[in-house]
Amino acid sequence: MRTDTGQVFRLEDYRPSSFLIPETDLTFRLAPEATTVIARLTIERRDETPLDTPLVLDGDGLELKRLELDGTALAAPAFTATPDQLTIERPPLARRFTLSIETELAPARNQALMGLYRSNRVYCTQCEAEGFRRITYFLDRPDVLSVYRVRIEADRKEAPLLLSNGNPHGSGKLPGGRHYALWHDPFPKPSYLFALVAGDLGAVKDEFVTASGRRIELGIHVEHGKEGRATFAMDALKRSMRWDEEEFGREYDLDVFNIVAVSDFNMGAMENKGLNIFNDKYVLADEDSATDNDFAGIEAVIAHEYFHNWTGNRITCRDWFQLCLKEGLTVFRDHEFSADQRSRAVKRIAEVRTLRAHQFPEDQGPLAHPVRPRRYREINNFYTSTVYEKGSEVVRMIRTILGAEDFRRGMDLYFERHDGQAVTIEDFLKVFEEVSGRDLGQFALWYHQAGTPNLTVTALYNKEAQELTLEIEQSVPPTPSESRKRLMHIPLAFGLVGKDGKDVGYTRADGAGIENGVIHIRKRRHSVRFSDVPERPALSLNRGFSAPVTLSIEQTQAERAFLARHDCDPFSRWQAFNSLLTEALMVASRQGRGGKPPEFQPELTALAGAIAENDALEPAFRALALALPAEADVARELGTNIDPDAIFAAREALAVAIADANAELFERLAAGLGGDNTFSPDAASAGRRALSNALLDYLSTGSRGPARASRQFFAANNMTDRAAALAILAQRHADKPETAAALAAFEERYFGDPLVLDKWFQIQAAIPGPQAVERVAGLMRHPAFSIANPNRVRSLIGTFSTANQTGFHRADGTGYQLFAETVLEVEKRNPQVAARLATGLRSWRSLEPLRQGKAREALIRLAGAENLSADLRDIVERTLA
Ligand SMILES: [Zn+2]
Repeated sequence: MRTDTGQVFRLEDYRPSSFLIPETDLTFRLAPEATTVIARLTIERRDETPLDTPLVLDGDGLELKRLELDGTALAAPAFTATPDQLTIERPPLARRFTLSIETELAPARNQALMGLYRSNRVYCTQCEAEGFRRITYFLDRPDVLSVYRVRIEADRKEAPLLLSNGNPHGSGKLPGGRHYALWHDPFPKPSYLFALVAGDLGAVKDEFVTASGRRIELGIHVEHGKEGRATFAMDALKRSMRWDEEEFGREYDLDVFNIVAVSDFNMGAMENKGLNIFNDKYVLADEDSATDNDFAGIEAVIAHEYFHNWTGNRITCRDWFQLCLKEGLTVFRDHEFSADQRSRAVKRIAEVRTLRAHQFPEDQGPLAHPVRPRRYREINNFYTSTVYEKGSEVVRMIRTILGAEDFRRGMDLYFERHDGQAVTIEDFLKVFEEVSGRDLGQFALWYHQAGTPNLTVTALYNKEAQELTLEIEQSVPPTPSESRKRLMHIPLAFGLVGKDGKDVGYTRADGAGIENGVIHIRKRRHSVRFSDVPERPALSLNRGFSAPVTLSIEQTQAERAFLARHDCDPFSRWQAFNSLLTEALMVASRQGRGGKPPEFQPELTALAGAIAENDALEPAFRALALALPAEADVARELGTNIDPDAIFAAREALAVAIADANAELFERLAAGLGGDNTFSPDAASAGRRALSNALLDYLSTGSRGPARASRQFFAANNMTDRAAALAILAQRHADKPETAAALAAFEERYFGDPLVLDKWFQIQAAIPGPQAVERVAGLMRHPAFSIANPNRVRSLIGTFSTANQTGFHRADGTGYQLFAETVLEVEKRNPQVAARLATGLRSWRSLEPLRQGKAREALIRLAGAENLSADLRDIVERTLA
């Protein structure tokens, strides 16, 4: 484990590497406790590098066994080797030379899951961002591209399957029951894309014929016996390959494409060239083990990693500050893919909910950073929602500004011009400026400036003149180390909705046109005047969530209810109703607990019924609309002095009010949706299940709820319905015998299946109330729980800290104590996962004073722990700053 050196990396300090490594030959002699790695590197001095420049290679916890220069063994003091660095003070004067480095690793003891490690007896690697330096000394930076040849040797029985990047190049037997395989990847790549897998796995095989007629062999490798759960992933892969050809003109380039699912993995998945390695959570699914959300998640992650082949691998990042260049763009691409495969409207709403739940709090808290950060201490901590999700929104805005056609032309130029290069955000923006002739200089601030902009909108209607004027003012709140903000270019899509619920036409009073219904705000104050507006229209703003901003607008409840019934833009329609629900919850939670239970307006509960029964709306849309804002959503809107118990009570009261007001209707709708006995994971079927379970949630609020949810739990023929019923029981009726029985049945049924049992951990970790602390502590001692496995830790502790507001924020601070202890326990093995987990406390300053004090104590305790890793110290110190 690397301890903190306090070193800060700055974008402006970027310098090209003095040396390059055009060729890399690797030999792995695999053994669990002692793997030998021989790296034969062809090193090239750049023409502009002075001859007396030392060669310095990165390492991380390495032990050098042998070093050869051009075939001759070197001895100290010709070089110095520490675990973190290999330095040759006077490298040869020749422009090119070869260095052969032998290191020894113990993959079985690597619990950080970076570099080469073992998961369930399978050797695998994770090298992004800086894991390759845990395998051998190297110029471990994304702008050093190398052609790799790899030889893997292993025990034949233990590891019949030997995979690496690129194309297979031969294999054979070796003495002593061992064998070898050779791989060659003709495409130069940075070290973070290197991968190796060796083990005994089952496989699903298929093939794909590209648009130009090339046959690609596809393989998805999973634990024996789980092959049946990989067929959906294979189907998603083939659909992704076709989609990238059709939408972006991008063909796959190697002869084989392999995906391997492993059960111990820090992230979701990794796009290593030709050999994607996945958290098994994002590969394995069938109706008995996975929910509809799991299926959608698998489809999205399979697509995401595949799309990286062009956006990330063929064109990579110059340095890690440019992470959003590959991630924001690739998230945008996978969002578009999912929108095309499923319902575009529903997908967009889900994206915005995710962005608000994860990125907005990041932007509003101590961990705020620009989409392209300018400084970091630990790059592992920048795989954030800001880089990924906001990064995707920025690409979406580029398309909104340019239009689909120019956007595609820009992407074509990007692929053509930068193929095989390591580039920057400036290179990316330049292609769009060139094809469109537009100046994106001000727009580029979306990459450089942190914080969520706010737009304050005032609408003035003049009946006599038949004129409508919109006054729009922008502001960007200060964020850490950026107190003064510059003005942004914000594309605001909008519509004016007339009394009949249809959009009304408009002309600008000054005669200027409005392109594609988008107002471009560039100044602090922006005013638009429309003429020939015969009556005051309802304002539908930020349609499709055209910009990731918050809106402050004076709009009556009646106006918003009108939009919720009529707006032709599905996102804005959802937004109108959601904002009414959020506002009602804010008012009710400010009233606090005790005293009279909060009352809600009958118009609001009636509107919920009207949406639920509107056949013209997709079931999935209705399900999303009926889902009450999460407690965390309400907390975020309240902003300060948060009392989680008050928010919880308000939310429960609203659920009961909506259920009571619509009891008969919901019964009737639920009955109409039932009776489907065949399962299909497609979007339309999933939408019906979502609506049915949203209704069940309301119908289970009363005293007959436990029996009802329990009936669905035991009768369900798929995991979506089973898990939904179990979650409803746990959330609403935790103390009832039906809940205990269902939890026991689930545990028994899936005990040998850790991935599925994660749902059981999650559902219990989210059970509200003060007893949650003891419950979670108890579950940590469950035989299926393992503190070394990231999926288990995230399911139990991650869910507890992010999705259980009343339990985690228990007023006596014991929730934070348990959390801090667990973070430190995880950190001993896996600093990266511990640091990610610790971000669960990032919004501590928005709590009411008592809880704030307790949360701070927990953070200070973390900060004071001995030998803190660079990853965790970085998060804790920034959170406290
Ligand atoms: Zn990615």
